[in-house]
Amino acid sequence: MSTNWQEIEKKYYMFVVKRQPIVIVKGDGSYVWDDNGKKYIDFTSGWAVNNVGHSNKAISKAISEQANTLLQTSNQFYTVPQLKLAEILVENSCLDKIFICNSGTEANEGAIKLARKFGKKNLNNAHEIITAFNSFHGRTMMSVAATGQPKYQDIFQPIPTGFKHVDYNNLEEIKKSTNDNTVAVMLEPVQGEGGVNIPSKDYLKNVRKWCDDNGILLIFDEVQTGLGRLGKLFGYEVFDVEPDIMTLAKGLGGGVPIGAFLAKEHACAFDPGDHGSTFGGNALTCAAAFASTEYILNEKVVDNVSKMEKYFKEELNLIQKEYEIIDQIRGMGLLWAIQFKSEISADLVSICNDNGLLTNPLRPNAIRLMPPLTVEINEASKAFSILRKSLDKLSN
Ligand SMILES: *Cc1c(COP(=O)(O)O)cnc(C)c1O
Repeated sequence: MSTNWQEIEKKYYMFVVKRQPIVIVKGDGSYVWDDNGKKYIDFTSGWAVNNVGHSNKAISKAISEQANTLLQTSNQFYTVPQLKLAEILVENSCLDKIFICNSGTEANEGAIKLARKFGKKNLNNAHEIITAFNSFHGRTMMSVAATGQPKYQDIFQPIPTGFKHVDYNNLEEIKKSTNDNTVAVMLEPVQGEGGVNIPSKDYLKNVRKWCDDNGILLIFDEVQTGLGRLGKLFGYEVFDVEPDIMTLAKGLGGGVPIGAFLAKEHACAFDPGDHGSTFGGNALTCAAAFASTEYILNEKVVDNVSKMEKYFKEELNLIQKEYEIIDQIRGMGLLWAIQFKSEISADLVSICNDNGLLTNPLRPNAIRLMPPLTVEINEASKAFSILRKSLDKLSN
């Protein structure tokens, strides 16, 4: 007899997310199964988290070995998994130092604190950070304040101050908003939650130059774009622009909760005692994240993303031609949005569910596709035929 988990959720869990009516109990590669044994192709991957696929053996092995060795000791001591993860991330990025925490929002909190300390030390107490409208930086108060979407802010007023929001992909707005009190510009290389918005070719390069000319920091929130999602290990490589500070989370742990912020040497303004975390850099999560990062590097997962990007582009362009109801396709790597001419995304997601494909309702008129980065052509091909079948149902 199966338990009614949806009733139990309704009774006990705070209602903060409109969930899809599916209880997921198992995952393997690009697939998940519900509690009735129904199989789905997963194009949500835990919100761009399961980059190396569900139940990846390299990760489960690392977790199990680490769990049998050491779960946690505080940052009062050195731990090996933390330092192995620090080394692999710094050696494979343009940044020099790392601090490891537990989530994306925490990574951004840390990055913001680091920038403020930098301003105190080097820029005559400058503390203001310029961020973009439609950005998403997380759910803790400072990250909510950084996020350029009033719907996440208004109900929590008063929220922390110190942010100026400008239109994304508009250098002039950043220039106009910069003053003696500005310490940093903080952007996602591609806006994820805000709609999969891709900046024009030179935007980030020009922002970099503006920051250099004004002695202010450039922070990239790569919580969603990092670890291969855009077809390079880090999103900044796609745009050929190096940030001073970069934040990571989502795909970093291959499924376990972990985040990090990295900085170039000149931006490492913290002194002992300025920042910390009980669980940050925890042995278990770091062992998983190290295994995941090593897997991405050794198995050339990023090459698969480039290959699949071409396939997605071709297929989605065809699908757009086939269906009048599609307004626009946006995307890069394995992060894609399909925007419709009307608000059909809830219905479409639901029909796709029934047909065995999980997608993310991004906006009332848009869905997001973000499969594991290990997804193969035959799986994606199946997914696109389910998508077509589901669109057929809505088109007539
Ligand atoms: C998801 C996300 C966050 C927040 O990460 P959490 O782990 O949910 O706190 C921050 N920034 C970006 C770009 C994200 O996509």
